[in-house]
Amino acid sequence: MKTFLLLLAAGSGRRMGASQNKVFLKIGGKSAVQRCLEAFAGLVDGAMVVHRPEDAQEIARETAPFAPAAFPFLKTAFGGETRQESVEKGFRALRGLGCAKDDLILIHDCARCLVSRELIRRLIDAAAEKGAVIPGISATNTIKVTDGNQVVSTPDRASLSEIQTPQVCRTEWLEEALARAAREHFLGTDDASLLEHAGFPVFIEAGEKRNIKLTTMEDIQMAEIFLGITHMPRVGHGYDVHRFAEGRRLILCGVEIPHPLGLLGHSDADVAVHALMDAMLGAAGLGDIGLHFPDTDQRYKGISSLLLLEQTRELIKDRGYEFGNGDITIIAQQPKLRPYIPQMTETLSRVLEIGPEALNIKATTTEKLGFEGRMEGISAHAVCLLKPVG
Ligand code: MG
Repeated sequence: MKTFLLLLAAGSGRRMGASQNKVFLKIGGKSAVQRCLEAFAGLVDGAMVVHRPEDAQEIARETAPFAPAAFPFLKTAFGGETRQESVEKGFRALRGLGCAKDDLILIHDCARCLVSRELIRRLIDAAAEKGAVIPGISATNTIKVTDGNQVVSTPDRASLSEIQTPQVCRTEWLEEALARAAREHFLGTDDASLLEHAGFPVFIEAGEKRNIKLTTMEDIQMAEIFLGITHMPRVGHGYDVHRFAEGRRLILCGVEIPHPLGLLGHSDADVAVHALMDAMLGAAGLGDIGLHFPDTDQRYKGISSLLLLEQTRELIKDRGYEFGNGDITIIAQQPKLRPYIPQMTETLSRVLEIGPEALNIKATTTEKLGFEGRMEGISAHAVCLLKPVG
């Protein structure tokens, strides 16, 4: 007895509100097609992916990494207008590939991409014994039969199960059930209903709560929770020091400040912006400023640190984060910086594309202690919070 997967990926996902077919939507970096194929890999003797003609290229790209290592064969076929039609077409294609009467067919909705390998194994074992098995979970909500918005009756909850996929049955049963449904123009909402209609016994095996069907964007968020994918804000800290030197301009937070001494450095030596960039890179898990903008690189000689800050903003955006809020402390005995803070805030918030309320800049002295107190240089600390984009 062999087992074959019929993976239904022909739905358009219109209810999702996404422009893309939902089976290609990436969750945690993988599409539903990929997740399903991973789940069934090595557990079946062949697979048929049923899809819409317009998705042919994308399906070919998604399935390519799996054949032939994960499946003895992995083929694709065009689906139909309805789920039942897609099952029929895929089933016919599988039969043409040597699927025999006593083999088992596993019909699975691609949108249930969180199905576990353990459940698949259990269903195959049970179907080998019983002929037709479907996964179900006991209804936890009270379910009403309605007519329009009026309640007609309340079925006993204990007798109700919510049905999932894969639905597994013997090939010859499915063949007969499909033929009978076609003859009698019977349209079922799942595969088991066709078997029931044809008089075959169907058994329920315990399904899984996490085996949800991705229908709305809310389901995607639920799937991310099940997969442990979290989009937490991230915090980072930066610290920098530059020494005073003659013949240099003093630039802090992008603002030139009149002073007899400037800060020495490869770039414009904007110590505060450097600290902020390090905080941002740290929060994004991207290392530090020296890694991205080495002082051995001639491109950065004398460059305005605001241009580097702009690039840092883009680096964190590529990582899926944007600036949440930040706090900078500049430590300088002299000059007095308070009069420049509004201009500093305005300058940096413009570069970061944030509102000025998201950035706090402050200055302090060290009561003449340490290198800052001896006016040998200026240091700066910064912390920032990055938030996931969207
Ligand atoms: Mg620096």
